[in-house]
Amino acid sequence: MKRSIKFLIALFAVIFISQSHCAAQILPPELSWQGRSEKFIRPTDDSWVSPAERSGLTQTPDYPATIAWLRKLVDHSPYLSMLSIGKSGQQRDLWLVTAAKPGTAAPADLQKNGRPTLLFHAGIHAGEIDGKDAGLMFLRDLVLKNSRLLDKINILFIPVLNPDGHENSSQFARVNQRGPEKMGWRTNARNLNLNRDFTKAETPEVRALLRLLQKWQVDLYIDIHVTDGIDYQHDITYGFTTKNPYSPQIAAWLKQTLSKNVNKALHDFGHFPAPLIFAMDNKNLEAGVVNWTASPRFSNGYGDARHLPTILVENHSLKSFKQRVLGTYVFLQAVCNTLAENGQNLRAAIAKDETMRRKTLPVSWAYDHQNEPTDSLAFLGVAYEKFNSAISGAEEVRWLGKIKKYKVPYYSQKPASLVEIPQAYWIPASRPDIIEKLRLHGIEMQEVQKPQKVMVELYRLQKYKLAPAPFEGRVRLEVEKVKSEKHEVTYAPGSVRISTDQPKGDLLVLLLEPESQDSFLQWGYFHEILQRTEYIEGYVVEPLAQKMLAENPQLKAEFEQALQDEKFAQNPRARLQWFYQRSPYYDRNYLLYPVGRQR
Ligand SMILES: [Zn+2]
Repeated sequence: MKRSIKFLIALFAVIFISQSHCAAQILPPELSWQGRSEKFIRPTDDSWVSPAERSGLTQTPDYPATIAWLRKLVDHSPYLSMLSIGKSGQQRDLWLVTAAKPGTAAPADLQKNGRPTLLFHAGIHAGEIDGKDAGLMFLRDLVLKNSRLLDKINILFIPVLNPDGHENSSQFARVNQRGPEKMGWRTNARNLNLNRDFTKAETPEVRALLRLLQKWQVDLYIDIHVTDGIDYQHDITYGFTTKNPYSPQIAAWLKQTLSKNVNKALHDFGHFPAPLIFAMDNKNLEAGVVNWTASPRFSNGYGDARHLPTILVENHSLKSFKQRVLGTYVFLQAVCNTLAENGQNLRAAIAKDETMRRKTLPVSWAYDHQNEPTDSLAFLGVAYEKFNSAISGAEEVRWLGKIKKYKVPYYSQKPASLVEIPQAYWIPASRPDIIEKLRLHGIEMQEVQKPQKVMVELYRLQKYKLAPAPFEGRVRLEVEKVKSEKHEVTYAPGSVRISTDQPKGDLLVLLLEPESQDSFLQWGYFHEILQRTEYIEGYVVEPLAQKMLAENPQLKAEFEQALQDEKFAQNPRARLQWFYQRSPYYDRNYLLYPVGRQR
């Protein structure tokens, strides 16, 4: 008896605590909203009402319920197919729905029909799930009411790219976000963030996506998220690289053709689109916002690097789930209409970017805080006040729920380092893992069949830093300085020569150049070169040093110079090492990055 009373008290306490921590009570005031897009919501007694609509767009269905609903729609429509493109870490199928006429799931057939293809996915960050529920509604209305669109385009839809994160769902997953009631988790079952995995390609989910991009010819790719940060009136923000893009023709089409149509449609239906808004300082809007150049670890940066038109959608977390889903619905509809009307122009832009050959390529980016910003961004914001917090002991910000217009400095990133693009790269056969990843990215290469001697340029690390803590499960290596050396290397069978004269040449450079922030080297795939092997005994280095000094008066002068450094002079081990290092017995491969550059 006593026990059950204790249990009941504990249960009430849990309920009380859950209620008192309900996110709605701790979020800034909500801006009221009504829009014409509400007309897309089906009544609850409609036979094709989606699970989210049935809840009044306050809940999102779990993965099995999502897939069951989609399967019903697919079985009903001659234009839809469904196939698994792989398995998640926890062995869930990664479902892809295809929408096309005359209704086939085969990649070859889709390519033969000559129509441009849109790929969109939701739930790469599984708690940011708006795109899934908007996608269900959109696909339904497409096949039931608007299938003429499929005379002009093909559509590929992945409802949830991170189903393991999606099923790790609770009301405590995303505290900054106003619904749905339960949300999934950001990372996958291994706690890896899929939207940092586009170059290193470690997760089964992103690997499946990269295989899909190889198999199907995708002309436009949309990755749908929800963002927090500062408060503002805009409910849907989206972006692509606009400053110094790797794909300038594509960027021009996205800006001049697509954005124009999409923004008009969103305004017409009562939504507030804007470019991505990331504040320099979330506590001080006057410090400005950034025009972000995404590196290729992110979907949008990756798309820019491989000349795949890619848009990152970031709905605003403080808007209701309903408003966000409807905005995404309108966005998808406008994107499809634009692709149907102007898809051939987009294809021409892709072809131009794929055939453009540069001599140099920027491989890292940085904000130039020293310079005055050249641009400013006007946007529809929300007023805030600052107050002294007894909790943090510092000045904090409170968003007031009152609309306010802002015009703030708009900072862009500038290239921080440029590299000269070689004719080709060489990867030794001893790194089949790197060769496999490059193949997964769709990079073409020639495999060496018998040993081949090649004169190549190799980099030796001069200055580098290992990260103090792992990031995405890897210890990153920051490369600060490298030195180029000429080497004659004999490449064993299985090694590959990879020409940069190919459509994905820019991506290749970004994956292999040491100074590229998302190169395999910086992601920690070559840590073995940081270790020197083979050693020398003191009783061997002594006579060796005597011999070297006798044979080389210049060396003697250098040694005497080195002895000026008192610390060095007092370190017997360092003095012996000094000679070993200058002898031919020293490890020649120490700090030598084994990817060859052929000019
Ligand atoms: Zn996200």
